[in-house]
Amino acid sequence: MTERYPEIIKKIAELWRIVGNSPMLAIRYKYFGEERTIYAKSEQFNITGSIKDRMALYILQQAYLTGQIKPGDTIVEATSGNTGIAFAAIGRAIGHKVVIVMPDWMSKERVDIIRSLGAEIIPVTKEEGGFLGSIQRTEEIADKQPNIFLPRQFANLANAEAHQQTTGKEIWCQLAEQGIIPDAFVAGVGTGGTVMGVGQFLRGKVPGIKIHPLEPTESPTLSTGYQVGAHRIQGISDEFIPSLVKLDALNEIIDVSDGDAIILAQMLASRLGLAVGISSGANFLGAVKIQNELGGHANVVTTFSDSNKKYLSTDLMRTEPVRPNYLSTNIELLDFRIFNRTCQACNV
Ligand code: PMP
Repeated sequence: MTERYPEIIKKIAELWRIVGNSPMLAIRYKYFGEERTIYAKSEQFNITGSIKDRMALYILQQAYLTGQIKPGDTIVEATSGNTGIAFAAIGRAIGHKVVIVMPDWMSKERVDIIRSLGAEIIPVTKEEGGFLGSIQRTEEIADKQPNIFLPRQFANLANAEAHQQTTGKEIWCQLAEQGIIPDAFVAGVGTGGTVMGVGQFLRGKVPGIKIHPLEPTESPTLSTGYQVGAHRIQGISDEFIPSLVKLDALNEIIDVSDGDAIILAQMLASRLGLAVGISSGANFLGAVKIQNELGGHANVVTTFSDSNKKYLSTDLMRTEPVRPNYLSTNIELLDFRIFNRTCQACNV
């Protein structure tokens, strides 16, 4: 492959020093008194504090390597937040103007962070089509204006590939170094890049591994195929099934209630000092549900996709009413260990 812009390609390679290789946490907890462990990749250590930095950096790297983007192009993406923050920061770091098209009901913190990174935001109302409307708007911009690069995170195979090449490989290596073989992986689905990419890598290593997508009970888009209702787990279940998601290549869909996810995220912060976002609470509960199926000793892995910082104005900071079917009521968080970020022993 010809490297047309070696300086930028070198800069991108350097940026991987602050994206990926996140710590793996082994969290000990009790469920109805039974002691168990769940493994979680702590993604708040990436440059902008979320798992989406991996995808943004990888997509831009691939775009430069294959000649789909050139210096001076404007990056235009539709996003519910973390992707916008990731492209704004990484786009600026390699010298691009960034335009983010997003539904106008996303948290104020997300909007302010994107603006602070010098990106322009185009808000889209529910009447203008909300999430789907945002994606359509990016295509219209690219049709009308020259020198636009559309990452198209919901359809771009490089999104899933980013997680296959980095997140999935890291999970395998960090666990292998401890002598642990994963039995299952679960992740809330936004674009589906995480669950599809990690799933593909881990299936290559452990053919029988269970790979579960997760969605909010209140808005079961994956199960029904369309938008059903509102929910509070920002970053997942965005009104439609992204084309990246191949449900027939995955195990059953796990559902978690948004209130339960909020309570569990609050518990991770207040009991263990792990200040994570709402989708991380949901992912932990998804892993608990899988252990309920496979047995308490099953090695179940998930991601903590971001920190609580972008949710300070949301229900995450309020007292959440407990409902009878919640799993969090029967969970006692005990402590956690931290595995090496990089693994020398593993040859993949
Ligand atoms: N959690 C949060 C907080 C996110 O922002 C996202 C990405 N939208 C996800 C989970 C889901 O990740 P993916 O897009 O890879 O499915």
